Amino acid sequence: MSLKERLASVRARIDHACRRCGRDPASVTLIGVTKTIPVPIIRDAIDCGLTDAGENRIQEARAKQAELGAGLRWHMIGRLQRNKAKDAVELFEVLHSIDSIELARVAETHAARRGRRPDVLIQVNVSGEPTKSGCAPGKLDGIADEVARLPHLRLAGLMTIAPFAGDPEAARPVFRALRELRDALRRRYERARHLSMGMSHDFEVAIEEGADYVRIGTAIFGERVAD
Ligand SMILES: *Cc1c(COP(=O)(O)O)cnc(C)c1O
Repeated sequence: MSLKERLASVRARIDHACRRCGRDPASVTLIGVTKTIPVPIIRDAIDCGLTDAGENRIQEARAKQAELGAGLRWHMIGRLQRNKAKDAVELFEVLHSIDSIELARVAETHAARRGRRPDVLIQVNVSGEPTKSGCAPGKLDGIADEVARLPHLRLAGLMTIAPFAGDPEAARPVFRALRELRDALRRRYERARHLSMGMSHDFEVAIEEGADYVRIGTAIFGERVAD
């Protein structure tokens, strides 16, 4: 399959998943995960209508943005270290991986200095896997209160990564739990509406559970050589 066909197939699957649960396909934003993918291929994806890109490394994102110029909305989806927060607020419009009060405060400082105001999603480690970043669900309210209080960060929702399992249905309880956390949070903060969840192998289940940002790499670009 060509890139164009794979992208069309992913879009068709998003549409289909939306239809199954009575959602408007336009309410789901496809984030093409472009980590390790060379610029010419990303350019092809833009020509096929890709509007949003997800990267997990600062250096790589900076190089690609320099070559590609405007035309994509960039999402930081990887683990974010405090010493990279300055670059992250410069390069990305949406930060999906804020998971501590300290990290939020550092991002705020740099956003203020740079006159930036990124959307912030709080990453929650719903499954409790020790290798995953993200805050424990019990820490979410405290972090959200802090982000909401900081003038240069916009509290925009929640993100999670489900444990990898052969059967995408295994991710459903994780996605559902994140949606419930979002629903509760949204009663306090109306703006906290986004749910960033679902990857190549489980995005349809994520959409059924309410995802409106799906982060998809392999299903669009093929297997990555390195990560
Ligand atoms: C790499 C990555 C993805 C995309 O994974 P695929 O399985 O290739 O779709 C999504 N989210 C995060 C946080 C990632 O690191």
